[in-house]
Amino acid sequence: MSRNWRRRTRLVHAGTERTPWGETSEVLALTSGFVYDRAETAEARFAARAEGYTYSRLGNPTVRMFERRMAALEGSEEAAATASGMAALTAVLFATLRAGDRVVASRLLFGSTRELLTELLPRFGVRTDFVDGGDVEAWARALERPARLVLFETPGNPTLELVDIRAVAHLARRTGALVVVDNVLATPVLQHPLRLGADVVVYSATKHIDGQGRCLGGVICCSEAFRRDVLTPWLRHTGPSLSPFNAWVLLKGLETLELRVRQATETAGALARFLADHPRVTAVLYPGLPCHPGHALARRQMEAPGPILAFRTGGGKARAFAVLDRLRLFRISNNLGDARSLATHPATTTHRRLPPEERVRLGITDDLIRLSVGLEDPEDLREDLEEALR
Ligand SMILES: *Cc1c(COP(=O)(O)O)cnc(C)c1O
Repeated sequence: MSRNWRRRTRLVHAGTERTPWGETSEVLALTSGFVYDRAETAEARFAARAEGYTYSRLGNPTVRMFERRMAALEGSEEAAATASGMAALTAVLFATLRAGDRVVASRLLFGSTRELLTELLPRFGVRTDFVDGGDVEAWARALERPARLVLFETPGNPTLELVDIRAVAHLARRTGALVVVDNVLATPVLQHPLRLGADVVVYSATKHIDGQGRCLGGVICCSEAFRRDVLTPWLRHTGPSLSPFNAWVLLKGLETLELRVRQATETAGALARFLADHPRVTAVLYPGLPCHPGHALARRQMEAPGPILAFRTGGGKARAFAVLDRLRLFRISNNLGDARSLATHPATTTHRRLPPEERVRLGITDDLIRLSVGLEDPEDLREDLEEALR
């Protein structure tokens, strides 16, 4: 871009490249391959002597626009798009780690991320030590020994536990570990891990970046060297490429990302306060509330506490299910980051595979309900919760 435009401008314009037709909206280059006028041109592109696309597994104009807009948004030198958030996390982990390496990760992770660390990576000789993400002392102890990579989510799902990015990145740097942050719940708008010392930021673009529940996608924001030397060989040869169609949808999502996230966060704050005052709610987990253990840290490292919250109904699974089944506007779904508000019972869905004692340790009790707040009128959402709790 010709100037260092501010964030909302970058969300609309960054990375746009126009064909000679001069289309206003980003072109959807729905093509698997590319043709060359001369054999020499093909040779030059394959030898990387000439710029240009060769095959959409390796690069595509619409996907590239999405990557460049994400890098401009995150403030990273580079971004690499993938078919899903899990493809992004798999690429970062498998492209970085070697047999014998050690990972230190927070205990509270997205279910499939945890499976990668506990089930798949050990097959290749990589082991992971888990720590309680909110406990800086525990990170310090775990990082006294060498580690290749540090991985955490903040806020964590579904209890909204916070990790101190600056403190953990500082500890990790001393051991030479690569610091990877899954920033999905904070969104690229509300938290900037690279500025706090992280090396790599990963998103499931399926969530707020699309924001309308339409498609899967993932993206890795990183340095140019990391993309070129570590990621590109993995991505080229394993092929977790983002579809150009999904990249086009995600570019459209980015245009309204900040407006959507700010609005949903405002509503989430109002609903958190409503639930905190409700006699039939035994606890509300939301970093925007002063009672949340991560409240002070959220004020330091986030622009706002975000559109996800959770609460406890008391009365175990039966009461949580009764409340969920009475909701009419909030729909029961394991997804999050949609324009429609969604309610989840983590203990029986997203976190079902965790051993019961680990669920208790993480605060994922049977009466816990997670809410992903959407764009409906806040009063309608409040009334829906009110009626369900009655
Ligand atoms: C959804 C999600 C993922 C996985 O993303 P997919 O696009 O579903 O593959 C990873 N991390 C977090 C925190 C998520 O919410």
